[in-house]
Parts: sequence; C-alpha cells; structure tokens
Amino acid sequence: MPLDPAFTTPGRFFKGNLHTHSNRSDGALEPEAVCATYRDAGYDFLALTDHFLKSYGFPIVDTRPFRTNAFTTILGAEVHAPATSLGELWHLLAVGLPADLAPTAADEAAPELARRCLKAGAFLAIAHPGWYGLTRADADTIEGAHAVEIYNHTSHIRCDRGDGSALLDQLNAGGRRIALCAVDDAHFHCRDYFGGFVMVKAAENESDALVESLKAGAYYSSQGPTIEDVIYGDDTVEVVCSSASAVIVLGRGSSAAQQLGRDMRRVRLPLERVKGGGFARIVVADEDGRRAWTNPVWW
Ligand SMILES: [Zn+2]
Ligand SMILES: [Zn+2]
Repeated sequence: MPLDPAFTTPGRFFKGNLHTHSNRSDGALEPEAVCATYRDAGYDFLALTDHFLKSYGFPIVDTRPFRTNAFTTILGAEVHAPATSLGELWHLLAVGLPADLAPTAADEAAPELARRCLKAGAFLAIAHPGWYGLTRADADTIEGAHAVEIYNHTSHIRCDRGDGSALLDQLNAGGRRIALCAVDDAHFHCRDYFGGFVMVKAAENESDALVESLKAGAYYSSQGPTIEDVIYGDDTVEVVCSSASAVIVLGRGSSAAQQLGRDMRRVRLPLERVKGGGFARIVVADEDGRRAWTNPVWW
C-alpha cells in the first residue's frame, strides 16, 4: 500500500511560501521587507522567486542576509521562455537555484530551461496553469517537473483563476507522477499574501534539507487547515486533521469518496473507488472553505 512521505519522513513540519516577488522584478517591496513580512507572520521559510528575465537583469536575489535563527530562505526564481500553445511565455517556478544560474539564452525553449533548472538542483513547479490557459500537451513538454501549482493566491484574487487541479489530475490520470503545491505568488500591490503555503517535513529548517524534502514529495499544501497524519491501508485511508467540514479522497476521472460533517478531526475513507485508477490524493476543507491538499500517492 502507498505511503505519503509527508507523514512517513522523519523530522518536523516547516511552514513556507515557495513563490514570491519583490521589486527586483515586478513586486512592490524590497526583498528585505518581503522576507520580514513572512518572518513576522510566523513562517519558517520563504523562497523569493523574482522573474528571471533580461528586463530585470536576470535576478536571483540573495536573501541569505535576511535569515535568522528561526527563519530561513531558499534561493530561486520564476523562469520564462517561449512558448505555450497559446503563444505566451512559459512561467516555471524553480526553488533552490544557485545564485549564478546562467541567463536564459534568447533561443532557449522552456523544456531546455526546465532541464537546466533541474540539473542545477531545483524543485520545479508548473506555475498557475489556470491563470494562462496551460494545456496538458504544454505540461507534457516539461519533463521532470516535480509539481503543479494547485493553488496560486494572486491568480485567485486578481483573476479568479487560481485553481490548477484540472491539469494536475489530468497528468496523473495520464500516468505521470506529479505532485502539487499551493503558493501565494505575492507581489504586494494588493493583499495577495498568506493565501497558500506548504508544510515541508525535514530534519532541519535549512535550505538544502527543505529542497530535498520538496523534491521527495515530503510535504503537504494548505490555505489554513492542518493535516497531522494520513495513513493508507489496503482498503481505507485514515486522515487526522484540524477541524474539518469535508474530507475527500480523489482519484482518476470522477472517482472520489468523502465524508461531510462538522468539526471532524479523524476520518476514515474507503479507497475502493480510487484504487483502480492508480492514484489518490486527499483534500481537507474547513468551515470557511479553506482547503489543505496532500500530494498524490500512486499504486
Ligand atoms: Zn507567473
Ligand atoms: Zn510569480
């Protein structure tokens, strides 16, 4: 039976935001102020991921000076190259990049750029697919991506297109094994922060350890609810969580099972409907409609 590494990997959970901008690209705040905003809100870590574009001087902002004993940063960027099937620039989130990543060449296409980021050691996510109409055929060209953004907060509040679940589930139904992540993509021109985060299980709150856990899928994503444990058995999955009004297991196509109620904290769901489809993932929703998502597991 499958194991979810978020709950079987040793260590503790660290809260972080993986996708953020500063005024080194099109964000409103200095990098130091962005880091302070998250640090003061109790986040354990932040990846500042400014747009890696020529117009901004290909920034990979050195956020190391803003680390403290209780807060760390991961170097990263949102990288861009031509072209999606709708003819737009790709947006790929690369978390855990070296500060000296070579600029994107004028003739470098997105699949090559993705390969280069992966080779450099990054956790790579397909950013906000709903926001710009990314197709499954587009995503198929980005081999080795670790995750799809299932929730992008700024895309949600500014464009009502924050949801990436359709693409994520299509990829997994098609046989690809790809995880998910929830992010802010905060730019600070409006209140587009503290909407989506990850809880990463690691031995220590340190950049390399966090990136390794991200790449191994040892994390879950949330807008607020906490998932304490997920235990897959042969026929059922048990979910231990903060006060929930819905706990759902989803699989291929329309396959799902759920329990709806009030103040649920421990729920057992049947796997019968999802197991045959090859993968399952859990969603926990609270009274306010805020959700938490586990990564998929595969049979
Ligand atoms: Zn973007
Ligand atoms: Zn962004």
